[in-house]
Order: sequence, then C-alpha cells, then structure tokens
Amino acid sequence: MKDESFFTLAVHAGEARSENHGAVSVPIYNSTVFAFTDADDGAAIHNELKHGYYYGRNGNPTAEALERTIAQLENGEAGLSFTSGMAAVSASVLANVKSGDHIVAPESMYSTTTNFLKHLAANFDVETTFVDAGHAESYGEAVRPNTKVFWIETPSNPLVKVTDIRSVVGIAKENGIVTIADNTFATPFNQRPIDLGVDIVIHSATKYLGGHSDVTAGLLVGRSEVLNNIRKVASKLYGGTIAPQAAWLVARGIKTLALRMQRHNENAYAMANMLSTHPKVAGVYYPGLVSHSNHNIAREQMTGGFGGMIGVDLETLKAGKTFVNGVEVCTLGTSLGGVESIVQHSATMTHSAIPADERIRAGISDGLVRFSVGIEDIQDLKADVLQALEKV
Ligand code: PLP
Repeated sequence: MKDESFFTLAVHAGEARSENHGAVSVPIYNSTVFAFTDADDGAAIHNELKHGYYYGRNGNPTAEALERTIAQLENGEAGLSFTSGMAAVSASVLANVKSGDHIVAPESMYSTTTNFLKHLAANFDVETTFVDAGHAESYGEAVRPNTKVFWIETPSNPLVKVTDIRSVVGIAKENGIVTIADNTFATPFNQRPIDLGVDIVIHSATKYLGGHSDVTAGLLVGRSEVLNNIRKVASKLYGGTIAPQAAWLVARGIKTLALRMQRHNENAYAMANMLSTHPKVAGVYYPGLVSHSNHNIAREQMTGGFGGMIGVDLETLKAGKTFVNGVEVCTLGTSLGGVESIVQHSATMTHSAIPADERIRAGISDGLVRFSVGIEDIQDLKADVLQALEKV
C-alpha cells in the first residue's frame, strides 16, 4: 500500500497561497490579458526573460498551479496542461518528430492515439510500427535509424496490458530515442514512469485525475527543458491550452486522488477475482490477477496498486451487448476513471473505427467489455454485475 506522503502530496501539491492572498483553493483567473508595469517589464515577460503572464493561451496562474501539482505527483520537474488528453498526446508527439521520422507504439492501446499515429503516417510521412508491447524486446526489434519516439501505454486501454517500462526505457536510451508514457490508467498513485526513466508522462486528466466525469483535460510531465520546448510549439502554435475553469476542476479532483485510487484498486481487485471464476466469463484482464500475462512486471512497477480498469471477455457480440444493456448500478458510457462505475462494449464503441481483423489481432474480441470500476460499495457492484451476467 502507498505510503502516507502521497496522500499528503495529493492534498497540498502545487499550492501557492502567498501569491493568492492566502486562498486555500487556488483562484480561477479568467483574465486573458495581464497588464505590464511598463514597456521593459512587458518586453521581459513577453520574451520569456522573466516569469510572468501576458496572454491566456501562453500561460495562466490557475493552469500553472495544476502544472506544478502534477509535476510533483509524477516526480517530474515541470508540467504542462492542455484542453484534452488528445491535445497532450498530439503535442508531445509533434514536438518530437518531423517528416521522415519513425515511431514505435503498442498494437493495442487507446484507439484515438492509434488513429492519430496513422493520421501522421497518411498525411505527414511519420510512420509508426505497432508492436506487441507486452514484450519489451519488440520495441528494440522495430528500431530504425530514423526512430525518434517510443510510445508506451501501460496499463493499456482497453485490454489492461502491461509494458515493462524500465526495459523499454533501456532500449530507448541505447538508441537515443525519446520515451513517452501514457499513465492515464495507472495514475501517479499506482505508478510513476519518470522514476523508471521515462522522458515524458502524458495523462488524459479527463479520467482519474479529474475523477468526477465533469472535465476534459490533458497533462504532460517531464524535464523543464523538454516541456518548455513542447510549450513553445503546443501552446503558442497549436493552441490547445486548458481553460482556467477546467484547470481548477482537475486541481480540485486531484486533492482526493489518493483516496479514490485506493478504493478503485480495492474494488477492481475484488471484482476481477469474482469475474475470473464466473462460468459466463471467457477471460478477465486485470494486472492484479496472477493469470495476467505480465503480472510480475505489474507487481514491480505498479507500486500503489493495480488500478480500477478491467477487461472482461464475454466472447460474442451478443453477450457483450446484453451485459452492458443489463447493468443497473453501473453506467453504460465510453469514458472511465470517474467515481461511478462505467462499462462499455469496445467492438461497437471505442474500437469501432478500427477494422475488425486488426481489432481482433490486437486481442479486442467481439465480446470485450471495458469495465471502469468505481468507488461505490463493492457488494452493490458485485450484485449488479451478477444480475447482468444472468441475462447473458
Ligand atoms: N489516453 C488514454 C489511455 C485514454 O483512455 C484517453 C481517452 O479515453 C486519452 C488518452 C485521450 O484523452 P481525452 O479523451 O481527454 O482527449
């Protein structure tokens, strides 16, 4: 179980009370323009020779408080906030590749990240080789002279696959390749990729960090120099800057992250165990189960727990759809990581844009249900799942 310090850090990280009249909750600075004291002051701030704010797209005190918070939680030097997880994904990739470069990424991961990388190949001559990320050596086998980025997503969406972060980082460092790890499923409560050598961590803060299914946001963490480079391109040129209200909601969500993750971990562990012995369930994917293909790696790198996400294989399209239609306490929806339990049917929802043969090859069967186990009473959740399975 996690040590006390993360619980304290989650509550207090990023605070800047003295700069905000002692405000315990960071104020929401709506202003899009910040006045300079004189022309020299304006020139210094505008040209980034002095820290300060001048225009909403390029920096805001509320967003900056959130950036300090996530940097501290991930044990990184600096953070950067975005309007969505995909804005953070695209900014981190585009800041590290140019036309003619090559990326290595998991064949099974969040489908929009897959589609973004395919979009780069089709339109910008940046090719990606998709590999079995459950075997770290497959990253090494895919390296080319022009490989610039190793993309890692662990545990992955929706199959909760686990990648050996330390081994992939080792291969990257030998080849001068930047590693970017999507830590959305784990959160820094359970796993800190920067401690394992990763260069950049990305989050869909829409999920566990926000935690209440009420804000869309993305975050990056890494060395100051690396993030400064991304900021110059991403915020100024691409413009995916987070809104101050959204930044505040994520920062508020993070205050209870440790408590929520503790409960998500406990509930999902209990649920995965129950599902794994149910006769109507063909397979359960959960890193905490000894049956998980990379359980030992998960034990090593997921120091806080195994997370709240489970993949449940009900084999057929009909069974998958019947189950998601049958739940009553759980919600049928396509997000995850909120306080409420959410189920979705991958083949007809999140992964419907991926060609069926490719989807099946990536292990996402017709009957796969992605289960985001919430923080409700576990007995209520178990009863709900059992009654829905009865209908299958
Ligand atoms: N990364 C992962 C693992 C996700 O699950 C998602 C969204 O589901 C994203 C990135 C994209 O985040 P957003 O929806 O906030 O753009």
